Amino acid sequence: MALTHPVGLEEPDETPAAQPAAEARSASDTTGHVTPVMAQYIEIKAANPDCLLFYRMGDFYELFFADAEVASRALGIVLTKRGKHHGQDIPMCGVPIARSDEYLHRLIALGHRVAVCEQLEDPAEAKKRGSKSVVKRDVVRLITPGTLTEDTLLEARRNNYLLAVARARLSSVGEDTRFALAWIDISTGEFRVVECERAALSAEIARLEPGEVLVSDALFGDGDLTPLWRSLPAVTPLTRDVFDSATAERRLTSYFAVATSDAFGTLTRLEIAAAAAVVTYVERTQLGSRPPLSPPMRESAGATMAIDQATRANLELTRTLSGERKGSLLDVIDRTVTSAGSRLLAQRLAAPLTGPAAIDRRLDAVSAFVADVAARADTRSQLQAAPDLARALTRLALSRGGPRDLAAIRDGIAAAAHLAQSLSRLDSVPSEIAEALDACRAPDAKLAAELAAALGDELPLMKRDGGFVREGYDAALDETRALRDESRRVIAALQARYADETGVKALKIRHNNVLGYFVEVTAQHGDKLMAPPLNATFIHRQTLAGQVRFTTTELGELEAKIASAADRALGRELDIFETLSQATIAAGETIKRCADALAALDVASALAALAAERDYTRPEVNDGLSFVIEGGRHPVVEQALSRDGTPFVANDCDLSPPEDAGAGRIWLITGPNMAGKSTFLRQNALIAILAQMGSFVPARHAEIGVVDRLFSRVGAADDLARGRSTFMVEMVETAAILNQAGARALVILDEIGRGTATFDGLSIAWATIEHLHDGNKCRALFATHYHELTALSARLPRLHNATVKVKEWKGEVVFLHEVTAGAADRSYGIQVAKLAGLPAAVIARAQVVLAKLEQEDRAAPKGFEDLPLFAVNLEPPPHARPAADDRLAAALAALNPDDMSPREAMDALYRLKELLGRNA
Ligand code: ADP
Ligand code: MG
Repeated sequence: MALTHPVGLEEPDETPAAQPAAEARSASDTTGHVTPVMAQYIEIKAANPDCLLFYRMGDFYELFFADAEVASRALGIVLTKRGKHHGQDIPMCGVPIARSDEYLHRLIALGHRVAVCEQLEDPAEAKKRGSKSVVKRDVVRLITPGTLTEDTLLEARRNNYLLAVARARLSSVGEDTRFALAWIDISTGEFRVVECERAALSAEIARLEPGEVLVSDALFGDGDLTPLWRSLPAVTPLTRDVFDSATAERRLTSYFAVATSDAFGTLTRLEIAAAAAVVTYVERTQLGSRPPLSPPMRESAGATMAIDQATRANLELTRTLSGERKGSLLDVIDRTVTSAGSRLLAQRLAAPLTGPAAIDRRLDAVSAFVADVAARADTRSQLQAAPDLARALTRLALSRGGPRDLAAIRDGIAAAAHLAQSLSRLDSVPSEIAEALDACRAPDAKLAAELAAALGDELPLMKRDGGFVREGYDAALDETRALRDESRRVIAALQARYADETGVKALKIRHNNVLGYFVEVTAQHGDKLMAPPLNATFIHRQTLAGQVRFTTTELGELEAKIASAADRALGRELDIFETLSQATIAAGETIKRCADALAALDVASALAALAAERDYTRPEVNDGLSFVIEGGRHPVVEQALSRDGTPFVANDCDLSPPEDAGAGRIWLITGPNMAGKSTFLRQNALIAILAQMGSFVPARHAEIGVVDRLFSRVGAADDLARGRSTFMVEMVETAAILNQAGARALVILDEIGRGTATFDGLSIAWATIEHLHDGNKCRALFATHYHELTALSARLPRLHNATVKVKEWKGEVVFLHEVTAGAADRSYGIQVAKLAGLPAAVIARAQVVLAKLEQEDRAAPKGFEDLPLFAVNLEPPPHARPAADDRLAAALAALNPDDMSPREAMDALYRLKELLGRNA
């Protein structure tokens, strides 16, 4: 009878060389029993169906079956097979433990979730239960995009939010659906909630740029919201119980170990449901560990400027249209010196405030650092030594911390204490700084002193590597270490003695994980040690190609002593680590406050550095409706131009309500392509954002009545990814503005109507301006190539015509980038095309067509549905004659008689006559 071998996975041998052997053994049979390891794998995988299972086997995480196929494709690693399951090969791939972070990072970035399954006991323990027994394993953690804590998986300068969205059940028909958002950054402990309406939902989510969004299955399946979910990188639908409001309060209060949710101030039922969902998910993914979160803090609705996703993208606030941080507004204004500062700056930029008092509080802090150059420099240099306190604290609390995290706490507390001392000498201490200084003094100095005394100078990444506790800190540790080191000296002495006794000079005592300590001689001396009398002392263990290895009784005893001393030393160190870690976690509250304070000081001093460097001024933000920018500049374009020494032309803008009007102005800006219209529009929006986030602004003077909503749209922006035509997108976005913008809004419309035929586009632009003027009554900037729109100013009292000046010089345009009152005379499109390098023949031909169109138009437009830009040009400009001569010459030059049929030649002749006729 044939033996049926169990097939499938087997435990790897511990010797490193055994990997292929295990493979060969298991890839044997056809059908049969499932190996115990396989059974264990299948059980664990079944409990985590929606995750890729990283299954620990020795020095590798291995993935099997479909997981292996997905991961090998995503990571570009080899897909092999290991054993059989139901007669089929088991697909397998693996990543070495040492490099697993890197692979995890890539999988998470692609939106995968990973369950990490570890060995929960030493394989030697398992062996004791019998040679076929399985090492205990279980999932210790789920890694999802929104629950990362490791520095290697996180971007230092960005928050990574986990956001839960809860929807209220409607109690009456016609009521607006309400949503609650609760979000945390698990790596820093920040926890906030807000309620909003359907209309504001996508803007709120856009501001947070969450790494992962949690919704109920029902919400996930709601057709109305599908486009929104699809636009987000990772949306995780969860069963209803997670969002259940009946149990929400209990789940939330139990996380924070408080009696009632009153401890968090007044949260609505809906907010509690969202908050409970987010903490429940944290507990699930952390398998019960509770990272230290701040209590949920409510953000009052309307406290920040509403900026929807399209506007954020279009203004390139935190990333450029191509998706990079470099070249965005954030990149250009970021002078922070710490990661936490950089994160806070990004938060503030994403959510400018709407309360003048709160804005002034921030501006006061920046002003103090602008005024005191020495304090600014001093603060910034001290902050440079401040590590990322919040993230280190979280890792310690989740038992994922290492000695360097303790050192970060030590250095952070010390830097904060220093800062508190040196900044108390400031002449004036505005409230934001005063509060920060208080928080800097909050952590217990004794904790910092203890950490400083305990930690050595060179710290390993992992606590299990040991050697991080300073000598002299702990007597018991010093003693075991002495013992261990003493034994090592004894080994060295033993090696010398053996070399002497055997006469083999090259005899060495070495160590590896398989044999432990052993005596090694080259092959030529091997025989000598194996023959009497030396074989009485030296016991043969292993013969390799070039060496022979032995052990001795004495060496065995020594080894046991060393190993136990080293073990005891490490055990003692780990105890000390645990004590220090607990002390740190106990002080978590004050450490977190201190971390926030350091970030706030970093932001204030960095914005001051920016203001000083780029000559920004303090804006005046008030409750009115004014919008006066004098000498405004575009912060990003200005810095880009300054790199090659080109000056930026500063421009004024005034959208304040005219006297008694009660509503702001609309500026209609005309001018040729490349004149600087878009730049001007955006710079004013960016100045409003900077002012309200509490930054100085690139202008000589700025007075801004708080903007509650900002809209920015560009005509003809493509959105092929979402499968809508260009023009459709443009109209959907314009509709959103016309339906939502109120008197406090600031609206930027750049060439709206460009995506359709001229008359259509012109009519839509026309009606849009009328609606903004009479309906929305908001402040607005409208750039257009429809010169005809300037006529509207005669009827609309708050519409102001402005143009970006150009000069025509010898048939070429010169851009002056100067915005003045008035309207552009024409588009200069052909001149711009010429600058762009269109072939001369095309330019010439275009000039011919233009001339014809202009002539036809004067009589009566017929046969041309699509007029060119600025077609309605009533009087030829005074210098028309030389220009027309140019056109005639160009048209002549473009002719190639050799290529023409008689009929074509005839047509050409008529055209030339026509041109001449126009000049006469
Ligand atoms: P338009 O929207 O009118 O076609 P843009 O605003 O795109 O023009 O500007 C075109 C280019 O002109 C910009 O990329 C920038 O380099 C330059 N520019 C615009 N405004 C200014 C300015 N105020 N000062 C200096 N250069 C400017
Ligand atoms: Mg433009």
